[in-house]
Amino acid sequence: MTGAAFVRTLLGDIDPADLGVTYAHEHLIIQASWTTLHHPDHLLDSVEDAVAELAPAQALGLRAVVDGMPADTGRDVLALAEIARRTGLHLIAPTGFHHERHYPPRHWTGRIGTDELAGVLIGEIEVGIDALDLSAPVVRRTPHRAGLIKVAGSLGGPSPRDTPIFIAVATAQARTGCPILTHCEQGTGGLEQVALLERHGGNAAGIALSHVDKVVDRGYHRELLATGATLEYDQSFRWGTAENGTLRLLAWAAEDGALDRIVLGMDAARRGYWRVHGGTPGMEWLLGPFAARMREIGLDETAIARLFVANPARVYAFRPPAA
Ligand SMILES: [Zn+2]
Repeated sequence: MTGAAFVRTLLGDIDPADLGVTYAHEHLIIQASWTTLHHPDHLLDSVEDAVAELAPAQALGLRAVVDGMPADTGRDVLALAEIARRTGLHLIAPTGFHHERHYPPRHWTGRIGTDELAGVLIGEIEVGIDALDLSAPVVRRTPHRAGLIKVAGSLGGPSPRDTPIFIAVATAQARTGCPILTHCEQGTGGLEQVALLERHGGNAAGIALSHVDKVVDRGYHRELLATGATLEYDQSFRWGTAENGTLRLLAWAAEDGALDRIVLGMDAARRGYWRVHGGTPGMEWLLGPFAARMREIGLDETAIARLFVANPARVYAFRPPAA
């Protein structure tokens, strides 16, 4: 595969052109973990439920899902692979590390060195994701390789705790060409994240910044776009009775000719968002009701296809580093 771009799914590498309609940031499985101990609504521990929840979205054309669960936070690669087989969806799953609040105190992600952290990431990208979710003193490699690196920043950018982790992520991207999906706390810190990653060998073209639509500020989004990174909007169903900020930002991006740099997800990591658990709006939201809202503000089918198909295929592609 030297030279050619590819997307690394759990069941194998594919041509980016074959990815299809993609949700750019989801959580299909979250096993019991530090986070679910404190927030039981995040527990998503059933392959059957995920398959059922995805079916209405698949009926609307969904072909691929990017899962965003980092190491030792309830990630379960074997369950995700089973969902991929049962649904026929292309699933991309990450290696990577979460925000420190999702780990118990003195977790190893804050205690080992940058080179060691990079080695952990590269092992899951090149060899296989650990069946034990990097929670044990042994690693059981699966044949399912990581197709992206997830990393979380803090308010306003990477904190002192986050910085060595971001450096490790940049190192792993420079080495493997693997795309990166970041968490922007309250939507902030995207500029600082890209600057830090690029300083250590990262490539903005392979970086997607999550949750930035929490900040409905046209100037901020223009600055983010100027970095060369892709923006991942995932707040579209969270506005209640307020004006839909995600839709507002999409309208501005259309005016600015920037729709080729945005991808859409739901980040629906709660039982309360899933229809199979009696929640709302359900996984069909983006391709159903929200796509209708996008059409109402004047986005045509070409624009919508760009958001769901061409943009994810570009940002989630591996760019093999020059030899
Ligand atoms: Zn997420």
